[in-house]
Amino acid sequence: MTLTLDPELRRALAERVRYCHELGIYDFYQRGARLPQSAVAALSETVPAFVSTSQPEQREEMAARRSAVAATVAEGNIFDVVSPKPESGVTDPAAALKIIREDLGDCTRCKLHKQGRKQIVFGVGNPRAELMFVGEGPGADEDAQGEPFVGRAGQLLNNMIKAMGLRREDVYIANVVKCRPPGNRTPEPDECDTCSPFLMRQIATIQPKVVVALGATAAKNLLAMNSSLGELRGRFYDFKPAGVCSNDPAWPGARLAVTYHPAYLLRDPRQKGEAWKDLQMVMKYLGLKTPKADA
Ligand code: SF4
Repeated sequence: MTLTLDPELRRALAERVRYCHELGIYDFYQRGARLPQSAVAALSETVPAFVSTSQPEQREEMAARRSAVAATVAEGNIFDVVSPKPESGVTDPAAALKIIREDLGDCTRCKLHKQGRKQIVFGVGNPRAELMFVGEGPGADEDAQGEPFVGRAGQLLNNMIKAMGLRREDVYIANVVKCRPPGNRTPEPDECDTCSPFLMRQIATIQPKVVVALGATAAKNLLAMNSSLGELRGRFYDFKPAGVCSNDPAWPGARLAVTYHPAYLLRDPRQKGEAWKDLQMVMKYLGLKTPKADA
């Protein structure tokens, strides 16, 4: 399907996109499609889903979100001005992550930069990790130390990782937003939308086999779905980071599992058994065996 734009409008939009690139903004998200519905419908058929599920009601919701993504992708193609991200072509994931961190800079892209953050909490762990954990955002300890999951919830996450037979340094850990929301409030949608492209670039760089979303905020942002945590748990989703191409075109994407946030498990330890079931599902997929008690 061919879509044409007025040359003047096309030029103006191309200028705008170039300007955004200069600011370090490479991905464009929109809540609603500006293209005609017929165009969006046709385009959404040609753009692969970045997540998939067998649940009919979730398929419906995801199709709607995908249409919006399709419109965004289509607009990029129309402009023909999508330039590669700074880390494109850098095959060493550690170097690529460093480039993404430099691109993030002393970020002021969303209002969290002026709400009391001490520092940006980028992410930590193995740049070639097969398993990646994604939480919501830094808390007070993380803000102070500059590393995700170092407080009480972090200790519990460490124990969960150990129970899987892994060490913290084997996995990669990051959050949807990289600055501490004041009072540990839930990050707002505009903050998540502004920050998550950097998370998507981290995931596309690391190319994990499995991403575990810790809690509802991470799950909803990664999957672009608004279901409850209970509805999202218990199965894998096929996941590709939205709006980012991996450096390895052969990377098939990750499987994504959803479980409880460790901070929630600290408040309600009765759910630890359920979280362990989620992790066992991940272990089975990764071929991990439960370590012996004295290991
Ligand atoms: Fe920038 Fe993310 Fe911090 Fe917002 S939360 S200021 S987008 S690093």
